[in-house]
Amino acid sequence: MKEPLFLEPIFQERIWGGTALKDQFGYEIPSAHTGECWAISAHPNGPSTVKNGVFAGKTLIELWKEQPALFGNYPSDVFPLLTKILDANADLSVQVHPDDAYAKVHENGELGKTECWYVVTCKEDAEIVFGHTAKTKEEFVQQINDGNWSELLSTVKIQPGDFFYVPSGTIHAIGEGTVILETQQSSDTTYRLYDYDRVGQDGQLRELHIDQSIAVSTIPHQDPNTTPEEKNIPSAVIKKFVEAEYFTVYKWDVKGQATFNGSTFLLASVIDGEGALTVNGQTYSIQKGDHFILPENIGEFQIEGEASLIVSHV
Ligand code: ZN
Repeated sequence: MKEPLFLEPIFQERIWGGTALKDQFGYEIPSAHTGECWAISAHPNGPSTVKNGVFAGKTLIELWKEQPALFGNYPSDVFPLLTKILDANADLSVQVHPDDAYAKVHENGELGKTECWYVVTCKEDAEIVFGHTAKTKEEFVQQINDGNWSELLSTVKIQPGDFFYVPSGTIHAIGEGTVILETQQSSDTTYRLYDYDRVGQDGQLRELHIDQSIAVSTIPHQDPNTTPEEKNIPSAVIKKFVEAEYFTVYKWDVKGQATFNGSTFLLASVIDGEGALTVNGQTYSIQKGDHFILPENIGEFQIEGEASLIVSHV
């Protein structure tokens, strides 16, 4: 069963969402407030379904349980990763995620959430909130109580192609006018620290989780980001952004015909261009917006064309 698993994404409406997932990726979105494309997901809040081959129609949740060999019998009750594309048409709330230990106790056994972002597109002068300035927990709490948000929160200007590793405990917010591809632990637990005092369509403020945010935030902030490692292979540039506890994430820029070798199972998202994927003598056309998994020990495969992919593995 050495064939790629192409996946049908699920879309999630969000108050901060827009139409970029249709405008840039050509997806059929449910509304003009579509915030998230859950592209490779086995999370119960939005599992993806296989589109092709012998497993067509199966959800990734079912495959994880029924076909563990596809994933090298990876020792986890749940598929460990979740790939999303986010359209931040407005600022997201300032938030923080718990680690595994905290989530297990306080969120019914849910995983913690360490995530990372590849900036696909953004408006000029787009920025994100990343980290904070407090040196101690006392100072952190004081600034929150005083509402000194501009002093407390650190902002960073971003550009397309930037990458951010966001371990659990990192205060963060994606800013308006940004489309990112997110690779994360398969978790849906977010603690909202600050929402710019915005009211929703119902005239209500969204719920905040100040106590949980204080409990799980890393203080002082630690910036884990390093320079990506770049490697050239024939007809492709492989950029490794991060190799960390929960995932390793790369960008593959293919121009021509490149040959790869798959050992551990891989998650792949085509974020630009088009081409052909050849696995075991079978060729599949791929284009921007496609997402697929290459099962464990797929062996040698080729990608031909001009395409950029974000690829990850556990
Ligand atoms: Zn987050």
